[in-house]
Amino acid sequence: MRVDALIAAGLTRSFEFFPPKSDAESIRLAATLRELEPLDPSFVSVTYRGGPVSRQRTLELVTRVQSEGRLTAVAHLTCVGHTPDELREILGEYARAGVENVMALGGDVTDDVVPSPSSPRYALELVELAREVGTFSIGVAAHPLGHPRSVDRDSDRRHLAAKLRAADFAVTQFFFDAREWSELVEDLAARGVDKPVLPGVMPVTTLRSVERMATMGAAVPPALIARLEAADRRGGDGAVRDEGVRAALELCQDLLARGVPGLHFYTMNHSSATRELHRALFAS
Ligand code: FAD
Repeated sequence: MRVDALIAAGLTRSFEFFPPKSDAESIRLAATLRELEPLDPSFVSVTYRGGPVSRQRTLELVTRVQSEGRLTAVAHLTCVGHTPDELREILGEYARAGVENVMALGGDVTDDVVPSPSSPRYALELVELAREVGTFSIGVAAHPLGHPRSVDRDSDRRHLAAKLRAADFAVTQFFFDAREWSELVEDLAARGVDKPVLPGVMPVTTLRSVERMATMGAAVPPALIARLEAADRRGGDGAVRDEGVRAALELCQDLLARGVPGLHFYTMNHSSATRELHRALFAS
């Protein structure tokens, strides 16, 4: 099914995975998918990063999930490192495989990505390419606190509004205060854009991940860090994980009270925190 139709039909619950980097990770991901499938997610999305091998793994995983027919797959695709013709070819492959949903993303130039001088520069151009190639339901990225490369909040929101007008829905970077989702949606509405914005939720389950999350563009607030450090003193890693899941549950409850169209869980290819949140929120 198309994601925009799923959102229109009611509250969505979706899970995000990244492609496995090794056979061992493939086995773990397969187990995670088996453990999460009974939660009957509205859709599952697979990120697209790195060099050709990782990118091919995304394409294989998405087309396999879609062909198995038990889950609705969303393929992430990034501009960076691809020519427009390569992007058209990948989108054509997804369309031929019956994949109906793509996330059109700018992407970031990392060590294993060879930038191409003719790559589209912004995600909006990839949205337009996807419109040209197929009849996809197209999602875009939204950054409640503004994208790290944005010069200011107004330009960030102006460019977000422009790409969301052309797309069907947005999914946010993870964040930790539900007011940021409300403020983002109100700002978009003031710019005449009312397309659905799915909040991305990532529980902080280790103190070590705090640093990594800050580099991904969404710093963990000091108050939450203090909560996790207190838990660490009380009971070590297990207590930190439980406190992180508890904080994520509080965020989800606040988001649901604010009328979000769905919840999008960043699983990091593990299932336990997502299952615990899902059970607490939806009793299943
Ligand atoms: P864009 O929308 O292109 O925006 C990037 C920057 O350019 C912003 O500052 C924007 O304000 C600015 N901008 C946009 N248009 C213009 C314009 N016309 N003129 C001037 N400035 C402009 N990355 C991956 O590599 N793989 C993934 O699978 C992946 N999945 C993601 C999923 C989600 C839900 C999110 C939130 C992010 C994801 N990312 C992924 C990260 C994403 O690729 C990075 O955030 C990247 O830096 C920008 O992505 P974007 O699509 O927001 O880019």
